[in-house]
Amino acid sequence: MADYKIIGAGIQGCCIALELANHGKKVTLIERDKSIFNRASLRNEGKIHLGLVYMNDPTFKTPYLMLKGALLFRKSLERWIRKDSYNLGLSEPFYYLVAKDSFLSADELEAGYQKLQDQFEEWKILNPNWDYLGTRPEKLFQRKPQKHIQNIFGNEVVEDGFQTAELAVDTSKLKEHLSKAVYANKNIEVLHESKVDQIEQKGDHFLLSISSFQQYFTLKSEHVINCAWDGKYVLDHQMGLPLPPELLHRLKYRVIVSLPKKLTNMPSATMVIGKFGDVVNQKNNKAYLSWYPSACRGWSHNIAPPDDWEEAAQGNVPSQLANNLSSEFLDAIDKWYPGISESKPEIIDAGPIVAYGKTDVDDSQSSLHFRSELGFKSVGNYHSIETGKLTTAPMIAVDFVNSILE
Ligand SMILES: Cc1cc2nc3c(=O)[nH]c(=O)nc-3n(C[C@H](O)[C@H](O)[C@H](O)COP(=O)(O)OP(=O)(O)OC[C@H]3O[C@@H](n4cnc5c(N)ncnc54)[C@H](O)[C@@H]3O)c2cc1C
Repeated sequence: MADYKIIGAGIQGCCIALELANHGKKVTLIERDKSIFNRASLRNEGKIHLGLVYMNDPTFKTPYLMLKGALLFRKSLERWIRKDSYNLGLSEPFYYLVAKDSFLSADELEAGYQKLQDQFEEWKILNPNWDYLGTRPEKLFQRKPQKHIQNIFGNEVVEDGFQTAELAVDTSKLKEHLSKAVYANKNIEVLHESKVDQIEQKGDHFLLSISSFQQYFTLKSEHVINCAWDGKYVLDHQMGLPLPPELLHRLKYRVIVSLPKKLTNMPSATMVIGKFGDVVNQKNNKAYLSWYPSACRGWSHNIAPPDDWEEAAQGNVPSQLANNLSSEFLDAIDKWYPGISESKPEIIDAGPIVAYGKTDVDDSQSSLHFRSELGFKSVGNYHSIETGKLTTAPMIAVDFVNSILE
């Protein structure tokens, strides 16, 4: 029987492993971290994107792709975690707040959201079994009167706004469910603290050189599936795959806070479009906070992120930096989410974001507004997976496995 080695056990590697195992394939998941699902897939916002954030892609490929990934998210997860997938710790729905200096106006955004709504209506008819995290919203968005928005979010930074159907999942719950499914599956073996340093093709198979606890060994495999996210391009390069021209790694911090009582029923909110941020009310008295000007503290066009990003990406942030980040986030966000500065910071960590772009999100021409180059590339039995977003990972896993088992 063909064997499959998957490099990286984030959401992408876990979903592909589970899908292959469901087809009766033997899989080895090789993970450099001490536990699986401990990097970007855990330390992110958990938003299951309806596409609303990507209105600056004039081709509309990105918003449509996100919407499709979102509508297939729960259904795909249910292939592997079944009933548990309903308990993903869904957040309060998001308001989209149009900043006074947004480079798209509320009218322009509304026109884009309507286009997305039209696509959504079409897919609802064509695919009656698709849903959005177990919900079937009538409308993806509703423009709210300016007075209503400014009553809640103030008028210092915010111009206008929309109530939307968008939600986030609790990534720690996602970790719990997917880890349980991986460890319970007899077709999946997990190697922890094992870093793939090199891949070589030898005739019809591959040799993987692995370091683990300062020991070195090699594994042979017929298929290699690279789901290493920020560790992906080093290995792709060894296999002769061209690097994307504007490859960019950014290190982005998050702060999870305990909310003051008066904010526990507030909506989640994302400010658009530019260098802004989010508040995700996770409904358990906790909120995820992000404020891009302070959160984005690493920028690298190298083939892999610098080594000194490692600690924060594993959850270890020096207390001085953690304090600075928390107060910067709380001060900035309090201007448009009044009262948030009374929150108590609890978790501060970071994750690398892999994308393409030379300039930042406040440049309307930046490639960061395009995220439609996702999916997989195969050269023989070497497969490189471009996760893109948490939203699209389960859909990519199902498509990819279908394509290689065809
Ligand atoms: C701050 C932040 C916020 C985000 N917000 C959202 C959001 O709201 N919605 C959304 O859809 N997406 C969001 N994303 C993107 C999302 O987190 C990622 O797209 C997704 O988690 C990537 O999953 P992955 O499995 O490819 O990567 P990871 O979860 O990083 O998994 C890759 C694994 O590969 C391992 N690895 C790497 N190199 C090697 C090697 N050589 N050998 C062995 N193992 C290796 C790593 O240790 C890691 O465990 C966000 C990302 C960040 C950082």
